Amino acid sequence: MINIIFFGPPGAGKGTQAKIISEYLNLSHLSTGEILRKKILEKDNLAIELKKIMSSGKLVSDDILNSIVFSRLTNEKDKGFILDGYPRSLAQAKYLNDCLKKINYKIDFIFNIQINFNILKDRILKRSSEESRDDDKIDVIETRYSEYLNTTEKVSQFYKEQNPNIFFDIDGKLKISQITKEIKEILKKS
Ligand code: AMP
Repeated sequence: MINIIFFGPPGAGKGTQAKIISEYLNLSHLSTGEILRKKILEKDNLAIELKKIMSSGKLVSDDILNSIVFSRLTNEKDKGFILDGYPRSLAQAKYLNDCLKKINYKIDFIFNIQINFNILKDRILKRSSEESRDDDKIDVIETRYSEYLNTTEKVSQFYKEQNPNIFFDIDGKLKISQITKEIKEILKKS
């Protein structure tokens, strides 16, 4: 059983790779962005609040994310999992750490897909015409990217310092199939 975290800015392709690798290894794919987008469809008070925050490009509160991840991890941990989009803040990283300790699980691989802002902008705008996501508009992309730089990048750097042996930087400019190949090679070697 393997547990993996994917890091990377919005549009780097972490969701695509997380999906491919979760199917390849038969792991639970926990995409917090997807889980939140499904919650918005419920149209209750929480949904209204989530829609407002997500369509602005800001991060949703740690409490909401931690409770979502806690219940999904407790239910699906036995299969092994991929975390895609979580943890995104140091408070979430600390919560995850405590949570994993409690259930006696550990992270085996961390993949950090890196890519520069200009390529990201083009990709996200292309995705916006295909998937019509509220947060794939040009003005929101800049907020999402600065949330990444100000908050989430610090989390991935923290993991890199703490876990250099299981942390792998991946070049997000490569084609989807090349990135998948590189990830599979790393998984096979270890
Ligand atoms: P994503 O699909 O991962 O790009 O996430 C879309 C949006 O969902 C983000 O811009 C945030 O508003 C929200 N979100 C997803 N995961 C998290 C998280 N771990 N912490 C806070 N907000 C999140």
